[in-house]
Amino acid sequence: MAMVSYRSENIKAALDIDRVVSFYGYEPNRQGFVSCPFHSEKTASCKIYPKSNSFYCFGCGAGGDVIDFVRLLYGLDFRQACVRLEADFGLVGVTDSASPELSERAKKRNAEKVEYKALKERFVRYNQIIRDSKPKAQGEPPSPEFVEAIKEKPHIENRLRELEEKWK
Ligand SMILES: [Zn+2]
Repeated sequence: MAMVSYRSENIKAALDIDRVVSFYGYEPNRQGFVSCPFHSEKTASCKIYPKSNSFYCFGCGAGGDVIDFVRLLYGLDFRQACVRLEADFGLVGVTDSASPELSERAKKRNAEKVEYKALKERFVRYNQIIRDSKPKAQGEPPSPEFVEAIKEKPHIENRLRELEEKWK
């Protein structure tokens, strides 16, 4: 099982969700939606999320990563979906062998995702502090939390933007 999960991490690191859905004939529209392959619909309601490399359908609730997409699309099991992606995207011998470079990429991407989530939480908290603990009277000294929030927020914004740019 360890082998499969190592391999699937490499596949996910190597393949961007928008590239995968386009390959199978689902071109995201300008809002990032595709016509859902998993239920019948008139308006595209399956959203593609390049940043988290995932998809989610607001119509039927289908969702997941690149492997889930192919698994659901062709009715495959997890292993078969990995094999299919490797064949279709020329990854045979890359993702299924011990490739340190790819697995480093997968590890880095995962670490960045964790960092992004933590920063996003701090960003929301700082915004709350800035909104709620503004000095009320003129001349009243600002609280240390407020000062910290004002000082740190631009750095967090920069880093979030940096990560978003990288995942585009
Ligand atoms: Zn759907």
